[in-house]
Amino acid sequence: MKKRGLILSSMLAVAGCLLIGKTDVFAENGAANQQVTDNQLTPQYCNVDGKITKNIYHQAELEKLTSITHGDTYTGNTSLDTVSTDYVYQLMGVNLTNFVGSDGVLKLYNTSELMTAQMAQSAAEYWNTLAGAKIVEIVDTQAESDETISDSAANGVEVNGKIIYPLGGQTYSGEGILFYPNHWHLDETTLPEAFKNNWKEATLIHEIGHALGITHLGGGAEGENAARDNVLGTEFMSSWAVGVYGSPLENENGVKSSKIDAAALAMAGLTWEKPRKLASWLFSEEEASVVYNNGEITSTVPYGAELDFKGNYIQSKRIVDQYLLMGEKNYNVYRVDDDVLVNRYFERVPNHTTTKNLDVNNKVIHVIGYYPSTKGNPYYRVEVGNQEYVINSAAFSDKVV
Ligand SMILES: [Zn+2]
Repeated sequence: MKKRGLILSSMLAVAGCLLIGKTDVFAENGAANQQVTDNQLTPQYCNVDGKITKNIYHQAELEKLTSITHGDTYTGNTSLDTVSTDYVYQLMGVNLTNFVGSDGVLKLYNTSELMTAQMAQSAAEYWNTLAGAKIVEIVDTQAESDETISDSAANGVEVNGKIIYPLGGQTYSGEGILFYPNHWHLDETTLPEAFKNNWKEATLIHEIGHALGITHLGGGAEGENAARDNVLGTEFMSSWAVGVYGSPLENENGVKSSKIDAAALAMAGLTWEKPRKLASWLFSEEEASVVYNNGEITSTVPYGAELDFKGNYIQSKRIVDQYLLMGEKNYNVYRVDDDVLVNRYFERVPNHTTTKNLDVNNKVIHVIGYYPSTKGNPYYRVEVGNQEYVINSAAFSDKVV
Protein backbone atom coordinates (compact mmCIF):
# COMPACT_ATOMS: atom_id res chain seq x y z
CA MET A 1 0.00 0.00 0.00
CA LYS A 2 2.77 2.38 0.89
CA LYS A 3 4.46 2.01 -2.47
CA ARG A 4 1.21 2.46 -4.34
CA GLY A 5 0.57 5.64 -2.39
CA LEU A 6 3.94 6.98 -3.37
CA ILE A 7 3.29 6.29 -7.01
CA LEU A 8 -0.13 7.81 -6.97
CA SER A 9 0.95 10.96 -5.22
CA SER A 10 3.85 11.36 -7.63
CA MET A 11 1.69 10.60 -10.62
CA LEU A 12 -1.03 13.01 -9.64
CA ALA A 13 1.56 15.71 -9.22
CA VAL A 14 2.22 15.47 -12.96
CA ALA A 15 -0.95 17.38 -13.54
CA GLY A 16 0.37 20.33 -11.59
CA CYS A 17 3.26 20.98 -13.91
CA LEU A 18 1.83 23.44 -16.37
CA LEU A 19 1.88 26.54 -14.27
CA ILE A 20 5.37 26.39 -12.79
CA GLY A 21 6.66 29.93 -12.97
CA LYS A 22 4.22 30.78 -15.72
CA THR A 23 4.19 34.36 -16.92
CA ASP A 24 1.75 35.84 -19.33
CA VAL A 25 2.94 39.29 -20.27
CA PHE A 26 3.09 40.04 -23.97
CA ALA A 27 3.56 43.37 -25.66
CA GLU A 28 3.15 42.04 -29.16
CA ASN A 29 3.38 38.76 -31.00
CA GLY A 30 6.43 36.86 -29.89
CA ALA A 31 7.63 39.54 -27.51
CA ALA A 32 7.44 37.52 -24.34
CA ASN A 33 8.55 39.26 -21.20
CA GLN A 34 10.88 36.42 -20.41
CA GLN A 35 14.60 36.12 -19.94
CA VAL A 36 16.12 33.85 -22.56
CA THR A 37 18.40 31.27 -20.97
CA ASP A 38 20.58 28.43 -22.23
CA ASN A 39 17.90 25.92 -21.26
CA GLN A 40 15.15 27.91 -22.95
CA LEU A 41 16.61 29.67 -25.96
CA THR A 42 13.16 30.28 -27.44
CA PRO A 43 10.89 32.38 -25.24
CA GLN A 44 7.31 31.26 -24.80
CA TYR A 45 5.09 32.51 -27.59
CA CYS A 46 1.48 33.44 -28.21
CA ASN A 47 -0.25 35.90 -30.51
CA VAL A 48 -1.64 39.19 -29.22
CA ASP A 49 -4.68 38.50 -27.01
CA GLY A 50 -4.18 34.76 -27.60
CA LYS A 51 -5.63 34.99 -31.11
CA ILE A 52 -5.49 31.97 -33.38
CA THR A 53 -4.59 32.06 -37.05
CA LYS A 54 -8.00 31.81 -38.70
CA ASN A 55 -7.35 31.12 -42.36
CA ILE A 56 -6.18 27.51 -41.96
CA TYR A 57 -9.58 25.95 -41.23
CA HIS A 58 -13.16 26.70 -42.19
CA GLN A 59 -15.56 27.60 -39.39
CA ALA A 60 -17.14 24.13 -39.52
CA GLU A 61 -13.72 22.54 -39.09
CA LEU A 62 -12.89 24.76 -36.13
CA GLU A 63 -16.21 23.78 -34.56
CA LYS A 64 -15.41 20.13 -35.14
CA LEU A 65 -12.05 20.55 -33.41
CA THR A 66 -13.57 22.30 -30.42
CA SER A 67 -16.44 19.84 -30.11
CA ILE A 68 -13.94 16.96 -29.99
CA THR A 69 -11.65 18.73 -27.52
CA HIS A 70 -14.57 19.76 -25.30
CA GLY A 71 -14.61 16.14 -24.10
CA ASP A 72 -16.68 15.01 -21.12
CA THR A 73 -16.37 15.02 -17.34
CA TYR A 74 -12.91 13.44 -17.25
CA THR A 75 -11.55 14.14 -20.72
CA GLY A 76 -10.91 17.26 -22.77
CA ASN A 77 -10.92 20.91 -21.82
CA THR A 78 -13.91 23.23 -22.13
CA SER A 79 -11.79 26.42 -22.03
CA LEU A 80 -10.72 25.63 -25.58
CA ASP A 81 -14.30 26.04 -26.82
CA THR A 82 -13.43 29.70 -27.46
CA VAL A 83 -11.18 28.68 -30.36
CA SER A 84 -14.25 28.44 -32.59
CA THR A 85 -16.26 31.27 -31.01
CA ASP A 86 -13.87 34.09 -30.05
CA TYR A 87 -10.90 32.71 -32.04
CA VAL A 88 -8.65 32.77 -29.00
CA TYR A 89 -6.55 29.97 -27.52
CA GLN A 90 -6.75 30.38 -23.78
CA LEU A 91 -7.06 28.46 -20.53
CA MET A 92 -9.66 30.07 -18.28
CA GLY A 93 -9.12 33.30 -20.21
CA VAL A 94 -5.30 33.21 -19.92
CA ASN A 95 -3.31 32.92 -23.14
CA LEU A 96 -1.74 29.51 -23.73
CA THR A 97 1.85 29.69 -24.90
CA ASN A 98 4.31 27.42 -26.68
CA PHE A 99 8.06 27.12 -27.22
CA VAL A 100 7.98 25.96 -30.83
CA GLY A 101 10.04 28.74 -32.36
CA SER A 102 9.81 30.57 -35.67
CA ASP A 103 10.50 27.54 -37.90
CA GLY A 104 7.46 25.57 -36.75
CA VAL A 105 9.53 22.69 -35.35
CA LEU A 106 10.09 22.26 -31.59
CA LYS A 107 13.80 21.55 -31.26
CA LEU A 108 14.72 19.79 -28.04
CA TYR A 109 18.17 19.08 -26.61
CA ASN A 110 18.08 16.21 -24.13
CA THR A 111 20.48 15.89 -21.20
CA SER A 112 18.14 13.89 -18.98
CA GLU A 113 19.30 10.49 -17.79
CA LEU A 114 15.85 9.55 -16.57
CA MET A 115 14.56 10.10 -20.10
CA THR A 116 17.12 8.38 -22.32
CA ALA A 117 18.11 9.52 -25.82
CA GLN A 118 16.04 6.67 -27.23
CA MET A 119 13.00 7.72 -25.21
CA ALA A 120 13.37 11.31 -26.40
CA GLN A 121 13.57 10.14 -30.03
CA SER A 122 10.45 8.05 -29.50
CA ALA A 123 8.58 10.99 -28.01
CA ALA A 124 9.50 13.10 -31.05
CA GLU A 125 8.38 10.34 -33.41
CA TYR A 126 5.16 9.97 -31.43
CA TRP A 127 4.21 13.63 -31.85
CA ASN A 128 5.35 13.72 -35.48
CA THR A 129 3.23 10.69 -36.30
CA LEU A 130 0.21 12.19 -34.56
CA ALA A 131 0.75 15.51 -36.34
CA GLY A 132 1.38 13.93 -39.72
CA ALA A 133 4.28 16.33 -40.00
CA LYS A 134 7.66 16.91 -38.46
CA ILE A 135 6.95 19.14 -35.48
CA VAL A 136 9.45 17.85 -32.90
CA GLU A 137 13.15 17.23 -33.45
CA ILE A 138 15.79 16.08 -30.98
CA VAL A 139 18.88 18.13 -31.80
CA ASP A 140 22.55 17.38 -31.11
CA THR A 141 23.57 20.70 -29.60
CA GLN A 142 21.96 23.04 -27.14
CA ALA A 143 22.65 25.99 -29.44
CA GLU A 144 20.23 24.58 -32.01
CA SER A 145 17.48 23.99 -29.45
CA ASP A 146 14.35 25.82 -28.45
CA GLU A 147 14.46 24.11 -25.08
CA THR A 148 16.58 21.68 -23.10
CA ILE A 149 15.24 18.60 -21.33
CA SER A 150 17.17 17.94 -18.13
CA ASP A 151 17.00 16.25 -14.75
CA SER A 152 16.52 18.34 -11.64
CA ALA A 153 18.11 17.37 -8.32
CA ALA A 154 15.19 18.96 -6.46
CA ASN A 155 13.35 17.02 -3.80
CA GLY A 156 10.06 18.86 -3.72
CA VAL A 157 9.16 21.99 -5.64
CA GLU A 158 7.42 24.99 -4.15
CA VAL A 159 4.48 26.22 -6.19
CA ASN A 160 2.27 28.94 -4.75
CA GLY A 161 3.64 28.32 -1.26
CA LYS A 162 2.97 24.59 -1.42
CA ILE A 163 5.55 21.83 -1.77
CA ILE A 164 4.67 19.44 -4.58
CA TYR A 165 6.50 16.45 -6.06
CA PRO A 166 6.00 16.53 -9.82
CA LEU A 167 7.52 13.84 -12.02
CA GLY A 168 8.24 16.38 -14.70
CA GLY A 169 7.40 19.91 -15.68
CA GLN A 170 7.35 22.36 -18.53
CA THR A 171 8.77 25.47 -16.91
CA TYR A 172 8.01 29.03 -17.96
CA SER A 173 10.97 30.59 -16.19
CA GLY A 174 13.91 29.60 -18.36
CA GLU A 175 14.60 26.12 -17.01
CA GLY A 176 13.24 24.22 -20.00
CA ILE A 177 11.59 20.85 -19.47
CA LEU A 178 12.57 19.30 -16.16
CA PHE A 179 12.28 15.78 -14.80
CA TYR A 180 12.69 14.98 -11.14
CA PRO A 181 14.42 11.62 -10.52
CA ASN A 182 13.98 12.06 -6.76
CA HIS A 183 10.23 12.07 -7.15
CA TRP A 184 10.04 8.81 -9.10
CA HIS A 185 9.42 5.65 -7.12
CA LEU A 186 8.82 3.23 -9.95
CA ASP A 187 12.04 1.34 -9.28
CA GLU A 188 10.83 0.54 -5.78
CA THR A 189 7.88 -1.35 -7.24
CA THR A 190 7.49 -4.76 -8.82
CA LEU A 191 5.78 -3.34 -11.90
CA PRO A 192 6.94 -4.98 -15.17
CA GLU A 193 9.77 -3.10 -16.88
CA ALA A 194 7.52 -2.32 -19.84
CA PHE A 195 5.05 -0.57 -17.53
CA LYS A 196 7.82 1.51 -15.97
CA ASN A 197 9.11 2.45 -19.40
CA ASN A 198 5.64 3.39 -20.65
CA TRP A 199 4.92 5.45 -17.54
CA LYS A 200 8.08 7.47 -18.04
CA GLU A 201 7.43 7.88 -21.74
CA ALA A 202 3.86 9.03 -21.06
CA THR A 203 5.28 11.77 -18.86
CA LEU A 204 7.83 12.79 -21.49
CA ILE A 205 5.15 12.91 -24.19
CA HIS A 206 2.97 14.91 -21.78
CA GLU A 207 5.62 17.57 -21.13
CA ILE A 208 6.46 17.92 -24.81
CA GLY A 209 2.72 18.38 -25.34
CA HIS A 210 2.88 21.42 -23.06
CA ALA A 211 5.89 22.76 -25.00
CA LEU A 212 3.77 22.50 -28.15
CA GLY A 213 1.11 24.59 -26.44
CA ILE A 214 -1.32 21.86 -25.38
CA THR A 215 -2.94 22.15 -21.97
CA HIS A 216 -4.31 19.45 -19.66
CA LEU A 217 -7.09 17.36 -21.15
CA GLY A 218 -8.60 15.74 -18.08
CA GLY A 219 -12.05 17.35 -18.31
CA GLY A 220 -13.60 20.65 -17.27
CA ALA A 221 -12.59 24.24 -17.91
CA GLU A 222 -9.03 23.64 -16.69
CA GLY A 223 -8.70 20.07 -17.89
CA GLU A 224 -8.03 19.13 -14.26
CA ASN A 225 -11.19 17.21 -13.31
CA ALA A 226 -9.52 13.81 -13.51
CA ALA A 227 -6.59 14.89 -11.33
CA ARG A 228 -8.90 16.63 -8.85
CA ASP A 229 -11.09 13.56 -8.45
CA ASN A 230 -8.23 11.03 -8.55
CA VAL A 231 -9.61 9.47 -11.71
CA LEU A 232 -7.02 7.63 -13.79
CA GLY A 233 -7.63 7.43 -17.51
CA THR A 234 -5.98 6.67 -20.82
CA GLU A 235 -5.32 10.33 -21.63
CA PHE A 236 -1.61 11.19 -21.46
CA MET A 237 -2.36 14.91 -21.23
CA SER A 238 -4.17 14.14 -17.97
CA SER A 239 -3.35 11.62 -15.21
CA TRP A 240 -1.80 8.57 -16.84
CA ALA A 241 -0.77 5.51 -14.86
CA VAL A 242 -0.42 1.79 -15.40
CA GLY A 243 -0.47 -1.28 -13.19
CA VAL A 244 -1.83 0.47 -10.11
CA TYR A 245 -5.25 0.45 -8.47
CA GLY A 246 -7.72 2.35 -10.62
CA SER A 247 -5.54 2.59 -13.71
CA PRO A 248 -7.25 1.49 -16.94
CA LEU A 249 -6.33 -1.99 -18.19
CA GLU A 250 -5.90 -0.48 -21.67
CA ASN A 251 -2.82 1.35 -20.45
CA GLU A 252 -1.08 -2.02 -20.15
CA ASN A 253 -0.90 -1.94 -23.97
CA GLY A 254 1.01 1.32 -23.95
CA VAL A 255 0.45 5.04 -24.30
CA LYS A 256 -2.34 5.56 -26.80
CA SER A 257 -3.32 8.89 -28.31
CA SER A 258 -6.93 10.01 -28.46
CA LYS A 259 -8.82 12.09 -30.99
CA ILE A 260 -8.86 14.77 -28.29
CA ASP A 261 -5.04 14.90 -28.40
CA ALA A 262 -5.13 15.22 -32.18
CA ALA A 263 -7.75 18.00 -32.10
CA ALA A 264 -5.91 19.86 -29.33
CA LEU A 265 -2.69 19.63 -31.33
CA ALA A 266 -4.46 20.93 -34.44
CA MET A 267 -5.66 23.94 -32.45
CA ALA A 268 -2.28 24.56 -30.79
CA GLY A 269 -0.68 24.62 -34.25
CA LEU A 270 -2.86 27.65 -35.09
CA THR A 271 -1.16 29.62 -32.33
CA TRP A 272 2.49 29.05 -33.21
CA GLU A 273 4.71 31.82 -34.51
CA LYS A 274 4.71 29.80 -37.73
CA PRO A 275 1.13 28.50 -37.75
CA ARG A 276 0.74 24.99 -39.12
CA LYS A 277 -2.03 22.69 -40.24
CA LEU A 278 -1.57 19.56 -38.12
CA ALA A 279 -3.33 16.22 -37.68
CA SER A 280 -5.78 17.14 -40.43
CA TRP A 281 -6.34 13.40 -41.00
CA LEU A 282 -8.67 13.76 -38.04
CA PHE A 283 -11.41 15.07 -40.33
CA SER A 284 -11.50 11.84 -42.32
CA GLU A 285 -10.06 9.22 -39.93
CA GLU A 286 -11.36 10.23 -36.53
CA GLU A 287 -10.50 7.01 -34.72
CA ALA A 288 -6.87 6.77 -35.85
CA SER A 289 -4.28 6.74 -33.07
CA VAL A 290 -0.61 6.38 -32.18
CA VAL A 291 0.59 3.89 -29.55
CA TYR A 292 3.93 3.82 -27.75
CA ASN A 293 4.67 0.48 -26.09
CA ASN A 294 8.04 -0.19 -24.48
CA GLY A 295 10.12 1.46 -27.17
CA GLU A 296 7.90 0.65 -30.14
CA ILE A 297 5.55 3.00 -31.93
CA THR A 298 2.63 1.76 -33.95
CA SER A 299 0.04 3.92 -35.64
CA THR A 300 -3.17 3.79 -37.59
CA VAL A 301 -2.79 7.44 -38.59
CA PRO A 302 -2.78 7.59 -42.39
CA TYR A 303 0.56 8.69 -43.68
CA GLY A 304 2.14 9.88 -46.84
CA ALA A 305 1.63 12.99 -48.86
CA GLU A 306 -1.69 14.79 -48.71
CA LEU A 307 -2.41 15.23 -52.39
CA ASP A 308 -5.61 17.21 -52.36
CA PHE A 309 -8.00 19.04 -50.11
CA LYS A 310 -10.22 16.02 -49.53
CA GLY A 311 -8.06 14.34 -46.94
CA ASN A 312 -6.80 11.87 -49.51
CA TYR A 313 -3.43 10.54 -48.44
CA ILE A 314 -1.18 8.33 -50.49
CA GLN A 315 0.47 5.62 -48.48
CA SER A 316 3.04 3.00 -49.38
CA LYS A 317 4.76 2.81 -52.75
CA ARG A 318 4.87 -0.27 -54.97
CA ILE A 319 7.39 -0.23 -57.78
CA VAL A 320 5.97 -0.95 -61.23
CA ASP A 321 7.40 -0.66 -64.74
CA GLN A 322 4.64 -0.22 -67.31
CA TYR A 323 3.82 2.05 -70.23
CA LEU A 324 0.23 3.29 -69.98
CA LEU A 325 -2.02 5.51 -72.09
CA MET A 326 -3.23 8.75 -70.52
CA GLY A 327 -6.78 9.99 -71.10
CA GLU A 328 -7.61 13.45 -72.40
CA LYS A 329 -8.99 14.99 -69.22
CA ASN A 330 -6.81 17.46 -67.35
CA TYR A 331 -5.56 16.32 -63.94
CA ASN A 332 -3.28 17.78 -61.30
CA VAL A 333 0.33 16.69 -61.36
CA TYR A 334 2.32 16.53 -58.15
CA ARG A 335 5.90 16.20 -57.09
CA VAL A 336 6.49 13.65 -54.37
CA ASP A 337 9.73 12.83 -52.65
CA ASP A 338 10.17 9.30 -51.30
CA ASP A 339 11.30 10.83 -48.01
CA VAL A 340 7.74 12.00 -47.56
CA LEU A 341 6.60 8.40 -47.48
CA VAL A 342 9.51 7.08 -45.48
CA ASN A 343 9.17 9.76 -42.83
CA ARG A 344 5.37 9.59 -42.76
CA TYR A 345 5.07 13.34 -42.99
CA PHE A 346 2.13 14.94 -44.70
CA GLU A 347 3.46 17.83 -46.68
CA ARG A 348 1.23 19.28 -49.32
CA VAL A 349 3.25 18.96 -52.46
CA PRO A 350 4.44 22.32 -53.79
CA ASN A 351 4.39 23.64 -57.35
CA HIS A 352 2.06 21.05 -58.81
CA THR A 353 1.01 21.58 -62.36
CA THR A 354 -1.46 19.77 -64.65
CA THR A 355 -1.31 16.99 -67.22
CA LYS A 356 -2.11 19.56 -69.96
CA ASN A 357 0.81 21.80 -68.91
CA LEU A 358 3.00 18.74 -68.96
CA ASP A 359 1.62 17.75 -72.37
CA VAL A 360 1.02 14.11 -71.48
CA ASN A 361 -2.71 13.76 -72.31
CA ASN A 362 -3.46 11.03 -74.87
CA LYS A 363 0.15 9.88 -74.71
CA VAL A 364 1.74 6.68 -73.53
CA ILE A 365 3.95 7.37 -70.53
CA HIS A 366 6.21 5.41 -68.25
CA VAL A 367 4.60 4.46 -64.91
CA ILE A 368 7.20 3.56 -62.27
CA GLY A 369 5.23 3.51 -59.03
CA TYR A 370 1.82 2.76 -57.57
CA TYR A 371 0.52 4.38 -54.38
CA PRO A 372 -2.66 3.16 -52.68
CA SER A 373 -4.54 6.07 -51.09
CA THR A 374 -6.68 6.25 -47.97
CA LYS A 375 -9.76 6.82 -50.11
CA GLY A 376 -10.60 6.88 -53.77
CA ASN A 377 -8.23 6.09 -56.60
CA PRO A 378 -4.62 5.06 -56.29
CA TYR A 379 -1.97 7.43 -57.63
CA TYR A 380 0.68 6.59 -60.19
CA ARG A 381 4.24 7.77 -60.19
CA VAL A 382 5.42 8.51 -63.70
CA GLU A 383 8.59 9.49 -65.44
CA VAL A 384 8.39 12.25 -68.05
CA GLY A 385 11.66 13.46 -69.48
CA ASN A 386 14.06 13.09 -66.60
CA GLN A 387 11.52 14.20 -64.02
CA GLU A 388 9.20 12.14 -61.80
CA TYR A 389 5.63 13.14 -61.02
CA VAL A 390 2.56 11.72 -59.28
CA ILE A 391 -0.85 11.68 -61.01
CA ASN A 392 -4.24 10.29 -59.99
CA SER A 393 -4.85 6.94 -61.72
CA ALA A 394 -8.19 8.26 -63.02
CA ALA A 395 -6.19 10.34 -65.48
CA PHE A 396 -5.13 7.15 -67.26
CA SER A 397 -7.06 5.21 -69.88
CA ASP A 398 -5.02 2.12 -69.05
CA LYS A 399 -4.49 0.89 -65.52
CA VAL A 400 -1.60 -0.73 -63.71
CA VAL A 401 -2.05 -4.49 -63.65
ZN1 LIG B 1 1.05 18.81 -17.28
